[in-house]
Amino acid sequence: MRCKKCGATAAIHMRQHKLALCEMHYVDWFQAQTERFIGKYRMFAREERVLIAVSGGKDSLALWDVLLALGYEADGLYIDLGINGGLDYSKQSLARIEGFLAGREGGSLHVVDIAGVYGATVPEAARLTRRGRAKPCAVCGLVKRHVMNRVARDGGYDVLATGHNLDDEAAVLFGNTLNWQLGYLARQAPVLPASADGLARKVKPFFRFYERETAAYALVRGIDYLYEECPFSVGATSIRHKMTLNLMETDSPGLKLQFYLGFLRAKEAGALAGMAEARPVMEPCERCGQPTTAGVVCAFCRLWEARRSGDER
Ligand code: SF4
Ligand code: ZN
Ligand code: ZN
Repeated sequence: MRCKKCGATAAIHMRQHKLALCEMHYVDWFQAQTERFIGKYRMFAREERVLIAVSGGKDSLALWDVLLALGYEADGLYIDLGINGGLDYSKQSLARIEGFLAGREGGSLHVVDIAGVYGATVPEAARLTRRGRAKPCAVCGLVKRHVMNRVARDGGYDVLATGHNLDDEAAVLFGNTLNWQLGYLARQAPVLPASADGLARKVKPFFRFYERETAAYALVRGIDYLYEECPFSVGATSIRHKMTLNLMETDSPGLKLQFYLGFLRAKEAGALAGMAEARPVMEPCERCGQPTTAGVVCAFCRLWEARRSGDER
């Protein structure tokens, strides 16, 4: 395979785009595509400040790399969940992020150590809840959403960006469709506008890139990321959905992209009109001030109160 731009040996062949590129032209293409998606989907403007949720994995570090290369003002947020899983997962993740930043111009890092701030790691806090006893993922999601929104708001950021790629988004869409979760379908989008009740705008600039494309970018750019997934992700339904979609993609290159873009088009045409109203009215939590549907005290604050009182919920 030859690079379509210069004829040199291709480093990557993307069947779904019928495009092969050498390393140098792949980096150019990938960055230009990211810029195009940011503009096309009106994610953020040049002068806006971006906070990227970084995990130490390939997607979020690649996103940070691209945004800095494109000249955006982009800082990182690392939430130390205190996950060990036999491999010091959280410590290893932070080490990769610090390695990424060393010797790089621009971009500062916020670190929120959950155990340090709230008195327990996420797995410890999860053990106190009924939902979190087997797996801490539901509690983890709650903690991450709360902390991301708080840091974005307190730091005066215009937008919160995550490194979700097409494989992630297509797997979520697949799950939501299998279960006909209309409320979730109505809210699944590459851009979620800020809400009047205090939720930051959320964007996913990589949502049109296949996972192998973000991995190839990280590799070509020499980004030393953490290969291991969180130990609690083993057996997750989303991983099974990804495998199913990959099987179909092998037979029909481009299927995942068509599936997701077709969904966005159907939504734009009004297929889910009215369903977005399924989102209940939010009120500020009386402890932390973040919007909540859960009554006077939000689920995040109740989690830590339950921990302090030793009261099992
Ligand atoms: Fe949190 Fe790990 Fe579960 Fe992801 S897999 S939600 S990081 S505990
Ligand atoms: Zn080339
Ligand atoms: Zn609260």
